[in-house]
Amino acid sequence: MAKESKPTPHNTEKQVPNNVIPLHSSKCNAEGCKAKPSRASFCEEHYTWFKEGLITLQGDKAKDFDKKYHAFMRRKSA
Ligand SMILES: [Zn+2]
Repeated sequence: MAKESKPTPHNTEKQVPNNVIPLHSSKCNAEGCKAKPSRASFCEEHYTWFKEGLITLQGDKAKDFDKKYHAFMRRKSA
């Protein structure tokens, strides 16, 4: 009769270090982007950029941004 309370599985998705990001940001972290953030303070597009290493968590471009961006676009269209 005793019903076990199982913890809800919420760790199945890949963990994003979002505990260091202020929660009050109302727009995407990427420079010049005014889109609403949907993941980790980035909009969908820039979140992908962040994952690809194109921009940092602060929204700054990587040193070799152009190179990475071209590689990313090539992969995307492949
Ligand atoms: Zn954005």
